[in-house]
Amino acid sequence: MKPLNEEEKRILIGKGTEPPFSGKYYRHQAPGRYLCRQCGAPLYQSAAKFDSACGWPSFDAEIPGAVKRVPDPDGVRTEIVCARCGGHLGHVFEGEELTSKNTRHCVNSLSLVFQPAPKGPSQTGETAIFAGGCFWGVEHLMKNFPGILHIEPGYIGGHVEQPTYEQVCTHTTGHAEAVRIVFDPARVSYETLLKGFMEIHDPTQTDGQGPDLGPQYRSEIFYTTPAQRETALRVIDLLKKKGYPVVTRVTPASAFWPAEDYHHRYYDRAGTQPYCHRRVKRFDE
Ligand SMILES: [Zn+2]
Repeated sequence: MKPLNEEEKRILIGKGTEPPFSGKYYRHQAPGRYLCRQCGAPLYQSAAKFDSACGWPSFDAEIPGAVKRVPDPDGVRTEIVCARCGGHLGHVFEGEELTSKNTRHCVNSLSLVFQPAPKGPSQTGETAIFAGGCFWGVEHLMKNFPGILHIEPGYIGGHVEQPTYEQVCTHTTGHAEAVRIVFDPARVSYETLLKGFMEIHDPTQTDGQGPDLGPQYRSEIFYTTPAQRETALRVIDLLKKKGYPVVTRVTPASAFWPAEDYHHRYYDRAGTQPYCHRRVKRFDE
């Protein structure tokens, strides 16, 4: 590893903390692992990284044996250090119920170096695009599915380039609010994500979700491969046979325009829960 600069020394040796929302790995999502900046020891797999909205990279598990826990001098928190070199990483918190492991390693970006996974078929992300009402709620309820490499809200299905939220709300651009998901097909199937999507929104409501009314809130699956189209039609058929009058459209994906920054991770930032979406079990498995 190259020598630490002054700011990295302040964190790793001086046990400092970088400002929240400032680190380069806070929102970072890519398959690979995170190494100790000081000694290069592998500390965390990218699969353990999750979005806690706290402002620092968060992991719910370390690579076994890679991270040592020590009582923080403040007498309250538990400090985490690299087990090999003792470099300061951050703190670990338990009992917050943010993930099934109930653990959050809150780590300074400056203590880490990302090492991308070698490119292989399983690392080639596949893209899924779902529209099902307010994209704040869809993103919030879809983001914790396993195997998701990236998720973001945006606009699709209209006829204006680079639409703004205000334009879409006027119903003149033809766009739907949607989320674009890049997932690892080796870890989660399109069908699993699609069934999840059909459970977290109401596919029987036309041009709206709950109190949100308008064509931008329509239910629509934008497929990116012929196989996704087949799956979508089959899953919709399955729901119809169960008695759901599904109105979800199945459409080839067109240009997806990422939404303005303030729409990303909306509920995590607001610290509230969606009013328009909740999960309802509609499938047997
Ligand atoms: Zn180290």
